Amino acid sequence: MAPSVECSAVVKADAYGCGLAAVAPALAQAGCRSFFVAHLEEGIAARACLPDADIYVLNGLAPGSGAMFAEHRLVPVLGSHEELAEWAALSESARPAALHVDTGMNRLGLRVPEAVALADDPLLTRAGIRLLMSHLVSAEKPDEPVNGRQIEAFAALREALPGIPASLANSSGIFLGAAAHHDMLRPGYALFGGNPTPYSAANPMRPVVRLDSPILQIREVEGGATAGYNGRWQAPSPRRLATLSIGYADGYPRSASQTGHALVDGVACPILGLISMDLIILDVTDVPGARRGAMATLIGDRLDVDTVGRAAGTIGYEILTGLGSRYVRSYTGG
Ligand SMILES: *Cc1c(COP(=O)(O)O)cnc(C)c1O
Repeated sequence: MAPSVECSAVVKADAYGCGLAAVAPALAQAGCRSFFVAHLEEGIAARACLPDADIYVLNGLAPGSGAMFAEHRLVPVLGSHEELAEWAALSESARPAALHVDTGMNRLGLRVPEAVALADDPLLTRAGIRLLMSHLVSAEKPDEPVNGRQIEAFAALREALPGIPASLANSSGIFLGAAAHHDMLRPGYALFGGNPTPYSAANPMRPVVRLDSPILQIREVEGGATAGYNGRWQAPSPRRLATLSIGYADGYPRSASQTGHALVDGVACPILGLISMDLIILDVTDVPGARRGAMATLIGDRLDVDTVGRAAGTIGYEILTGLGSRYVRSYTGG
């Protein structure tokens, strides 16, 4: 989409649940030089596996944390005058920092006029600002007028503060066109296989995560029998059920009870009743090959993280970042 623009990697939340220690070095080996995390602690963890990369901390400089940033050579994304002043006072040698400017989110960052007013302020140099950034409100919905307003405001900001590299686009922003690209892209979700264009096109990204769980038991039930806590599901006719070794304690959302599904032998099998802490019940009546020890796929093949998120009344981002600590994780390649 933007072959001449630097592509960084957003690896906050343990690389979107995929495991920072495995993911970050693989991305570095693939040529990624700049990484973004949310918290100082995540930055310290990232530094441990990325000795040479630029590591930006999106949530900025907490009061008194400057020495930790310096010690681990982390780059704070400064979002207020207080943060700018604190960082500038601390770093006589103008250690690098990024400046977050709010173009519509009303979450973090200086307002555009506040940032523009810094044009002739020596504070910018003293704080070592080497990247301007802002974040898009609705990038996954290309028709939303707020995209154009933010792209315009950010372009005006760059003109007011010339000579500083800039970054605006998250995964979906990359697909809004060249006006959103600037000097550095900042994808997270798309790197992990999420669909950055959910409203307009088939997912251009290949899947990254696969989640399988073994069938522990198969049982036949009569019509009228119930399954799981509170008997929430009742069999409309004789059915064949499979119980999987996975539950909400693994981060599989309980809100997908009765609405989600898993694949067994490629067949979509509905989740029955309430998801338990450690178990999920599937209807495998239509899958003769379902048996003890066979695998059910909860993410993978035709079942992508966006679909799982929708079934749970949430987004694929939350499915990824919820991937549990109890899973056995195996990494391919990298
Ligand atoms: C999380 C985040 C990103 C990455 O967003 P995706 O939609 O996952 O690509 C980029 N920039 C900022 C400021 C973020 O908080």
